[in-house]
Amino acid sequence: MPKKAIFLDRDGVVNKEVNYLFKIEDFEFIDGIFDACLYFQNLGYAIIIVTNQSGIARKYYTENDYQIVTKWMLRQFEDNGIEILNVFHCPHGPESTCECRKPKPGMFLKAKDEHNTDMEKSWMIGDKERDIIAANAAGIENTILVRTGHRIDESNSYARFILDSIQQSKQIITE
Ligand SMILES: [Zn+2]
Repeated sequence: MPKKAIFLDRDGVVNKEVNYLFKIEDFEFIDGIFDACLYFQNLGYAIIIVTNQSGIARKYYTENDYQIVTKWMLRQFEDNGIEILNVFHCPHGPESTCECRKPKPGMFLKAKDEHNTDMEKSWMIGDKERDIIAANAAGIENTILVRTGHRIDESNSYARFILDSIQQSKQIITE
């Protein structure tokens, strides 16, 4: 059975936006993230994180730095009763021709392959238009932009919904 998933961008959705975050001490969860994820989990969604990490290509931090932060982040979710099914990251820079850097849909397609994800019933929650474009390209029509990260050009967005924060998505995602 294909399973429905909530895809989350990381920086600006899960944690407060910090340019090129790579230290645990700079990682601050956004208010309500655990509550929202528990809610999604109870609705039967798998939770998957898809994150561009060009700081690796730019050599601002290493793959290992990224992995340390990821492990710590997953532990915090776990301590709050939340299972994150997988975290996909693109380590490449903007000049790369990789297929994974959003707005390309590579990370979503990989998730679909690995986890048999039902894209029609899945959602993407991001803070940048490229999150929405990538999700759409992977067959995800249900998209939400949140205002907790980067500034959004709201009049030029393909997002289905634009909300103040992930907390509000509980009113939108109800089944
Ligand atoms: Zn990539």
